[in-house]
Amino acid sequence: MNKIPRIAVVGSLNMDIVVEADRPPQMGETVPGNRVHFIPGGKGANQAVACARLGAQTVMIGSVGKDAFGQQLLTALQNDGIVTQTIKQVEDASTGIASILLSQGDNSIVVVAGANAHCLPEDLDQQRSSIEQADAILLQLEVPLPTVLYAAKQAKQLGKQVILNPAPAQDLPAELLANVDVLIPNEYELALLAGVEVTDETSLRKAMQLLLDKGVGIVITTLGADGAAYLTDDGTFGRVTGYQVDVVDTTGAGDSFNAGVAVSLAKGSSVQDAIRYASMVGALAVTKLGAQQGMPTADEVEQFSR
Ligand code: ADP
Repeated sequence: MNKIPRIAVVGSLNMDIVVEADRPPQMGETVPGNRVHFIPGGKGANQAVACARLGAQTVMIGSVGKDAFGQQLLTALQNDGIVTQTIKQVEDASTGIASILLSQGDNSIVVVAGANAHCLPEDLDQQRSSIEQADAILLQLEVPLPTVLYAAKQAKQLGKQVILNPAPAQDLPAELLANVDVLIPNEYELALLAGVEVTDETSLRKAMQLLLDKGVGIVITTLGADGAAYLTDDGTFGRVTGYQVDVVDTTGAGDSFNAGVAVSLAKGSSVQDAIRYASMVGALAVTKLGAQQGMPTADEVEQFSR
């Protein structure tokens, strides 16, 4: 199969500001920090980078501020060959950031959506041709929900495959789920969306069935090092075991997995093959530091599979 997959990602772009300190400050206190890193992130941008590295023609639709961080994020995507003319640069909001404090082996995070909150349904009308040209649209939940819903409906009407990674976890309107072909939650997001506890294979399957009952075509649940499980609307249930690797940093594991599924399905693979491929992508991503910079290339996945 030589078809070049075409993916449109509608989602967030953030600059992650990572500060390392020996201990976290109390409220009102100042403590010295050791290091600071500025790392391009945001689930949308992470997934776009992963798609591009896996060989997809990738268009990113989103919004950044007209500021230095915004420019750096655009440059990072362009370096991976991603189309960024489709990203709006807004005057009245700053680029989204995640302020991450790493201390004593743990982290605390404050996210400011900033310009991501300005990614609006009407932007999708302007970018309609990008969606028309794509095989699939890849969505997450870090831009406003009305935008995600509008994107899903527009793409579905155009006959495109709609893939939703429902992260960060939140309740979703029935209308959105009814327009999703492939839903890729992790275990926690699955439990929240289905409204049931997931403790074993029976409850896992039940939770996935509840989402199929709401109109989703296929549910793929990621299970960290344990791999993934899937249930399709024709009742096929299966599990794909994870690959054993030396874990360096699990940030972006879910993002890389979502991209792997999207790219593989757009190439015409079966669901099971797409999950196997995505599991390799996810496994390779956790062996490297950083979300975007840790995303593997198609060649690296090819070598890993041998
Ligand atoms: P999220 O980051 O969204 O919580 P998961 O932790 O479930 O998602 O990870 C997504 C996918 O990445 C998994 O289904 C698996 O394929 C891969 N993965 C994650 N952690 C590991 C690990 N420790 N070893 C191997 N593969 C992993």
